[in-house]
Amino acid sequence: MCLFYFSLMTVHRSEGLEWPVVAVVDLARQTRSDDSPILLDPEIGAALKGTDSNTDDSSCLFRLLRYQKARRESDEHRRVLYVATTRARDYLILTATKSKGDSGSESKTSIGLLTAGLTSAGITTEEWPFSREDSLPPVAVELPAVHRDVKAYLDPIEVIPSVLPVTSLAAYEECPLKFHYSNVEGHPGLSTGGSSIPIRRGNLVHFALQHDIQTARELGNFDRSLHPRFVHEALDLANRFRSDPVYAAFRGDGVEHEVPISLRLGRFDFSGRIDLLGAGFVVDFKTGRRDREPGYQLQLLLYALAAPREKYVLAYLSEGDIARYSPEQLKTHLPRVEAILDGISAGDYQAKPSEKLCERCRYRKICPASMASSLSTNLKNQSPYDDAPGNPADSIEDEDEVDLDP
Ligand code: SF4
Repeated sequence: MCLFYFSLMTVHRSEGLEWPVVAVVDLARQTRSDDSPILLDPEIGAALKGTDSNTDDSSCLFRLLRYQKARRESDEHRRVLYVATTRARDYLILTATKSKGDSGSESKTSIGLLTAGLTSAGITTEEWPFSREDSLPPVAVELPAVHRDVKAYLDPIEVIPSVLPVTSLAAYEECPLKFHYSNVEGHPGLSTGGSSIPIRRGNLVHFALQHDIQTARELGNFDRSLHPRFVHEALDLANRFRSDPVYAAFRGDGVEHEVPISLRLGRFDFSGRIDLLGAGFVVDFKTGRRDREPGYQLQLLLYALAAPREKYVLAYLSEGDIARYSPEQLKTHLPRVEAILDGISAGDYQAKPSEKLCERCRYRKICPASMASSLSTNLKNQSPYDDAPGNPADSIEDEDEVDLDP
């Protein structure tokens, strides 16, 4: 007997996973245009739309906010499309309905974005004309009645995160409350603007190395709203890996980039991507400072459990340096992992405020511990751009919570 299984899921749920065959459907659907009468930006402010729809008499501020919003949405659209189309191991099936004449709007669709690349790669499309015979109408199914005892649960329900990123152990060790915001509540945090720059620059470093991108012009296409200065910085860091002798042993054929891994520890599932996997080594690129190394050791330990190799390497690209670990060295940190998992299982999310950590925390504006402490005085005076690259904000979170899918 031959059995086929398929998973139906959103693109966001599919991040970090891979299947032999993937179908990405409905690529001709247009994104809805935003007609909000008011736009808000935490750094710039709020603006109201003008009243005359014929002449668009909206203020400059409104137009700026509308432009920025459209750019962000466009970048997110491209990112999600990239994730969707890179989940397949053997076959990728793309489907789209045929345009009904408004060819100008095609560029706003996913298939419109892909068409030039598909054409230049020599990939032709196959047309499936609509046929009423082949279109099965939905069949009404009568579901059997289910009788269950209904119980009311009045006690708080224990919330355990289902799948944790490999960087989350270090995040818990730094501040359990921050871990709770991020991994239990799924709160995105309130930082915007400058605070995301180290993450975006780190993403571009990964992109450049994974796709062998050599020019800032090409690299900038992956994050078009990022200032060129940071795109050049990302390319410089990628070039350092390509040329510095200290990384020579980790270059060459036979290495794989961005390899998905998953593993289970106790009741917790972890997932992540190994930056570079060779026959005898694992390399993790770091674009920040190396004083976060105790946290990185936990991340490498999970890699060692999921992908056994002879050595595990942190490549500090800003410094042109490396840190090397054997599997045995990493396994000495298992008690730390056990203590963290016990803490999460027990629901222990006590805040651990510290000036250094809180000043770059994206939850600082909602965190009671931060607001109650004297830190808040300093933080209130802080510019939103204080955590640009080169500042202490280039943290474990900044570079490891890679929010593209490089
Ligand atoms: S602001 Fe400080 S104490 Fe609050 S969650 Fe962030 S790191 Fe923890």
